[in-house]
Parts: sequence; structure tokens; C-alpha cells
Amino acid sequence: MGSRREGKFGNFYETLKQRGVSRREFLGFCSAMAATLSLPAGYGVKIAEALEKKQKPSVVWLEMQACTGDTESLLRASKPKVGELILDIISYDYHETIMAPAGHQAEKSLNDVVKNLKGKYIAIVEGSIPTKDGGAYLSIGGKSGLSIAREVCENAAATIAVGNCAWDGGLAAAAPNPTGAVGVKEAVPKATVVNLPGCPMNVENLTAVVVHYLTFGTLPATDSMGRPLFAYGKRIHDNCERRGHFDAGQFVRAWGDSGHRQGWCLYEMGCKGPQTYHNCPTIRWNEGTSWPVQSGHGCIGCAAPRFWDAMTPFYRRLPNVPGFGVESTADKVGVGLAAVTAAGLAAHFTVRLAKGKSTESMED
Ligand code: SF4
Repeated sequence: MGSRREGKFGNFYETLKQRGVSRREFLGFCSAMAATLSLPAGYGVKIAEALEKKQKPSVVWLEMQACTGDTESLLRASKPKVGELILDIISYDYHETIMAPAGHQAEKSLNDVVKNLKGKYIAIVEGSIPTKDGGAYLSIGGKSGLSIAREVCENAAATIAVGNCAWDGGLAAAAPNPTGAVGVKEAVPKATVVNLPGCPMNVENLTAVVVHYLTFGTLPATDSMGRPLFAYGKRIHDNCERRGHFDAGQFVRAWGDSGHRQGWCLYEMGCKGPQTYHNCPTIRWNEGTSWPVQSGHGCIGCAAPRFWDAMTPFYRRLPNVPGFGVESTADKVGVGLAAVTAAGLAAHFTVRLAKGKSTESMED
């Protein structure tokens, strides 16, 4: 991490300039961040003014029970752009997967931050935290993951839980959850946590949370599950480019059929978009190139609570489609309400399916 620490005491914009980022690119990035954060027009300038003055924050990244997919998401850049540089020039003082130091040297880096920058650093946690048997199923440097998470997250200014596992335990917490895996907030209730679920999290959302924190000194507004509203406030189904086909009753019924080739709705193939809240369709992946539904595969609901248990089998269609409008939120819907409303709308959807069937047979 040596090179990343060289400019530690310079400000953001100076470092960006040294990396060859022009002012035009920087302002374009700030405007895009304002849009991602659902801020009113004009906030791009405010973000730019704040970032120009800010010192780079110190960040520690903890790797708990995880597949490292969120670190992959962080690093998976085909070419540098401002957002990646912003994350790159944050003072990553500790990141188990990508840091150069090892052993005692690495532990010292972490301890120095916790001791010397108490209440000033950002903790990012990837992976679930095993709590069963005193946290014995994860040990780093002789300490349990649980005790490290408590020490680091309780002393941080803010904690960002990246990926589904750090949010609600994810895959490790799926039944029968042998290690007693939980998310960060459950393991460390005193910590100030914002959750970025997804398997993995989208790095654009992580950048936006960091930018929000640097600009306003606070974490963005969240729903009752600790997820920022700018990223998890809308259903995938409501922003999906195949929605018109859903409304018209045009469904893919087999992989590779004529509907699939024409980009019809993937609901019948198990798409979980109607019950998942995430900004996947609008920010997309790989520099905004595409996202799973655009590439022809249904949403698996990876940003939904306990999705490994609740959204599987992935290729079985949802039993009923709630008919919540675009104004719905995850908080308003709730699990109980979803079940009741879904039952009421089942008949309505049956008509749609029938219509889809007749449409398909007419066109085939
Ligand atoms: S069911 Fe899936 S593919 Fe169909 S419109 Fe909704 S999100 Fe898109």
C-alpha cells in the first residue's frame, strides 16, 4: 500500500490532477455522483467544492467470511476512471486481500489506525461474521473475526458493510448456518453502519456513499434495513427495460425461445426483479455496459434479505407478482403486506399470463 499512502496529506483534487484527471473529467464525475445519489441538479458543484478541499480519509477494509467478490468488484476496472481513482487514492491503510504488508506488520497497520485515528476512519467490511462457539470459526492474527469487527467498527466514524454477507450473513448464514454467521450490524450493534447488499456490491454505490460522506459529513439516508435509499429505494421491476413486455404479457418460456431472442420478460424463467430493490437497471455493471436482465438472465434477488433461502430455486418463478406501483418502497411493502397483496393480485396476473400465452402462440 506504500504508493497509496504517498499522497496521504494532499487533498483529493490535487491527487487526481497528479494522476492525469482533467478538471472537466472531475466535474463530470461530480455531476454523475450527484445523479447517482438522487440529489437535485446543481449538487455536482457542491460535491466538487467539498472534494477539492477534503483530506483523503483513512480506510480499513476487513475481510470476514466471504468469497472476496466485493474486493473483485472494487478492483475490476477495465480502464481507470475518476470513480476508480477516488477509491484508489483513499488511504487504504489495511486491506487483507490486496495489501503488501503481512503478519505482524499488517496487524500493526490496523492497530495504528484504530488507536491513532479513533472516530475518524471509515471501516469497510466484506463478509459475514461467525458468532457461534465464541466466534471460533474465523480467526485472524490470533483474534476472532467477531472481536476484530467489534474493535474496528465501534471505533470507526462510519462502517460500510459491502455485499450481502456483511449485510445479513449472506451465503454463510443460509440454512443451516453452521457458523452462526450474521451481518455487521447484528454483530456490532453499537457501530454506525450503512449496508450495500448485492452479490457482489456495485462499486459505483460504494463510491457514491464515500463521496456523500466526504461532501456532507454524514452517511446517506437509508431504509429500515440500513440500505441507502438512492440505491435501494426502487424495485428492479420498475426500472427494467423488459417491463413493457411484462405489462404486455410477453414472457420468455424457455431459454433460447423466440421470446428470449426478442428480449421479452424473464419472469417465467424465475426473475426476482418484482421483489428486489436495487439500482442495478440504472447504474448497471462494467462501466454501465450491461446488467444481468439486459444480458438475458433473470434477476436472482441478490440484494434482497436472506436471498439464498428466500429467492431459491433461482429458476422457479415467483408464486405471485405483487402489483406495487413505482412509488412503492421496501419499507412500505414489507414481507407481510407483500404476501397479502400478492394473494389479491394473483387472479389479475393469471389473466396476464393467459394473454402472454395467446400472444406467444400468435407470433410463433
Ligand atoms: S420480471 Fe424481471 S425481466 Fe420481467 S420486467 Fe420484471 S424485472 Fe424485468
